[in-house]
Amino acid sequence: MADHTLRLLILGAHPDDAEFHAGGLAAIYRSLGHEVRMISLTNGAAGHHWRSPEELVELRRKEAAAAGAIIGATYLTWDHPDGELLPTLEVRRQVIREIRTFRPDLLLTHRTCDYHPDHRAVGQVVQDASFMVIVPHIVSEVPALRSDAVVAYMPDGFTKPTPLQGDVVIDVGQQIETIVEMLCAHRSQVFEWLPYTRGIENQVPEDETERRAWVRDWYLAHIRPTADRYRKQIVATYGETRGQQIEYAEVYEISEYAAPLDEAARQRLFPFLP
Ligand SMILES: [Zn+2]
Repeated sequence: MADHTLRLLILGAHPDDAEFHAGGLAAIYRSLGHEVRMISLTNGAAGHHWRSPEELVELRRKEAAAAGAIIGATYLTWDHPDGELLPTLEVRRQVIREIRTFRPDLLLTHRTCDYHPDHRAVGQVVQDASFMVIVPHIVSEVPALRSDAVVAYMPDGFTKPTPLQGDVVIDVGQQIETIVEMLCAHRSQVFEWLPYTRGIENQVPEDETERRAWVRDWYLAHIRPTADRYRKQIVATYGETRGQQIEYAEVYEISEYAAPLDEAARQRLFPFLP
């Protein structure tokens, strides 16, 4: 166990967002004995083409819990409607309560420029909650915090209005197999729904080992371009030799609306970086 246990909170829109975007950092935190709590704000009821919404809510709650169990993380799904999440006051208050109760040192979420309206809504709610968590008269039944967490945006490839800034770059080459295992826990997604959305559902292998390898290839194709896109920042962090060799990286942008990542915070939250 670490001598000072940190708390990492990942607020995503759907069950599977946390590990898809930040599974490497979550796995590293757990391997260092830190606490990781992953939450999907929506119930995941829209993520399928033939399973009923009612079935999906229960199924995806179990899939998420199984994914979290792989690294020893708590994984919750809230009950907001999938595909129709809005950054309402009600959701903001719920997030403020969550942040005040769990007291994360580091909070990861989506950016507000993202293809999915649910992702944008979560990013907006976290941004709106960030300062409010220290205001005692807001959600007054839960004691206010004295300071914000560091909030970071999970990697994405969107470029308008601006690409994600690589403030923190992390080599996740050692965590790839764990991330893939977590993704494979979301069976209704990686073997059914996501292939359907890409029109390749007939390419999913029948055999369990083969289909896991198939998901692994898909995930690697997704994450591989990140390292080259942020090579400059990776080399600045890891040095020329190792930096050029890193194949798989997660990058994070620090929100300017919450606590700053000064040098002390960087060493405290990312002690595994050189
Ligand atoms: Zn999502």
